[in-house]
Amino acid sequence: MALIVQKYGGSSVADAESIKRVAKRIVDTRRAGHDVVVAVSAMGDTTDELLDLAHEVAPIPAPRELDMLLSSGERISMALLAMTIHSMGFEARSFTGSQAGMITDSHHGKARIVDVTPVRVREALDEGAIVIVAGFQGINRDTLDITTLGRGGSDTTAVALAAALNADVCEIYSDVDGIFTADPRVIPNARKLDHVSSEEMLELAANGAKVLYIRAVEYARRHRVIIHARSTFSAAEGTYVLGEGMKNPRESEGAAMEEPIVAGVATDLSQAKITVSGVPDVPGKAAEIFTVVAKSGANVDMIVQNVSAASTGRTDISFTVPKADAAAALKALAAERDRIGFEALLHDDQIGKLSVVGAGMRTHSGVSAILFEALSTAGINIEMISTSEIRISVVLRADELVEAARGVHTAYGLDSEIEATVHAGTGR
Ligand code: ASP
Ligand code: MG
Repeated sequence: MALIVQKYGGSSVADAESIKRVAKRIVDTRRAGHDVVVAVSAMGDTTDELLDLAHEVAPIPAPRELDMLLSSGERISMALLAMTIHSMGFEARSFTGSQAGMITDSHHGKARIVDVTPVRVREALDEGAIVIVAGFQGINRDTLDITTLGRGGSDTTAVALAAALNADVCEIYSDVDGIFTADPRVIPNARKLDHVSSEEMLELAANGAKVLYIRAVEYARRHRVIIHARSTFSAAEGTYVLGEGMKNPRESEGAAMEEPIVAGVATDLSQAKITVSGVPDVPGKAAEIFTVVAKSGANVDMIVQNVSAASTGRTDISFTVPKADAAAALKALAAERDRIGFEALLHDDQIGKLSVVGAGMRTHSGVSAILFEALSTAGINIEMISTSEIRISVVLRADELVEAARGVHTAYGLDSEIEATVHAGTGR
């Protein structure tokens, strides 16, 4: 008998029918003899709808009240799920985040979990109940106010509960079958991974893969929780996300464990490129530029500085930021143009970023050559390049991203013979 934490995303509990399907799945797990704790998201697009509503009544909703409002989405789904399970003849008890002991700091809208004290969850389990916990929320000990963990925070709720309860596995259910070598909506013959390391998963998620949230993966790595990302709509096993030295639960079944050099290809259309041109090529200018950008709140990703033209002593610096941050960064830089002494600002939101991720890059040479060769064959121009120990990213034209990703996916031998099944298809 195991203790299993399951998380169901909004698309898995979008309506009464879906809630019944999820309830059946939970009950089946219980019937198999396991203790079950469930973290549940708000139904369908509830969170977005509540957000819209808030913005209709107030241009900048008060953060405390916004958290009160948004946390109610998960209270609806948890209660409905618990009563569905009841009606199937099983004991189920729902708890809000605060009742379940999710203690956070006081940052409304993006609170961090500082402690988990699941006393009532334990009690309910001991009494034989299935426990349903509202995802994405907690309480601050000082203010005693309700907080939320940021969009997609139910993944983190589930992982934090799994860590605190010392669960055997944290199953994260969504409408995709697991982690793929690429987004199956972009590359139909992407292959489902049996397992992926948490460091690879973090790089994939940070570079556009949307199945799991970064904070949940980080939390799982730190607390040694095994994540099993799988589909609500199928009984098939999904993908295990494993931290260093953690044992793959499937290994005992004799599954093939050869480690590919590249785990996957991620694509990202959410970035924009800003070029600061004619920057005086003297010490301190990059510091001035990126201090201004940082103060605007923009999160810089890739940076490229050109060799300066000897005749002018000036250079160009390009960098990427999330599209949503670009306007603020441009405005802040324009205001400091005379002080910094650059000539012009260019803005380009038609870029796409392609990243290849694989822990095998540490020990294998020639991995980047395959990428550049594939792009060259496809006749695609590279505008920026950046690398980490286990990732290579390139910036290209947005309208060439899909073609590029397909070519690169094939070049690394990642194509599968069978087409991936995409169910509802949001990945949440
Ligand atoms: N309901 C919240 C959201 O949509 C949290 C979650 O789904 O994980 O962001
Ligand atoms: Mg949601």
